[in-house]
Amino acid sequence: MSGEADQGNAEWQQFSACRGSNTELFYPRDGEAQHVRLRRERTAKQLCDACPVARHCADYALMSKERHGIWGGMTAQERRNHERRARFAVARNSRPVSL
Ligand code: SF4
Repeated sequence: MSGEADQGNAEWQQFSACRGSNTELFYPRDGEAQHVRLRRERTAKQLCDACPVARHCADYALMSKERHGIWGGMTAQERRNHERRARFAVARNSRPVSL
């Protein structure tokens, strides 16, 4: 989510598809029912799918370890899963090779 208060002044923000849109679409509400959350996330991700700066947005969220909200079409849980896979891949590739 490219909320201006959240990210500083990254140049890519000015091209975001969500600029000026309702931020509630990208963040969970307290006590949000699962079916409501899934529908909200699906709607937000559709916006991200059409966003010309989605890659920048996802990279920003991953690099800054953004813990909340949908960024670059990824939920917080999806970013955590991505981080876990990346750490696993690094660990696997750095193991000594036994001959
Ligand atoms: S990828 Fe999604 S959250 Fe990120 S700037 Fe674009 S529309 Fe907003």
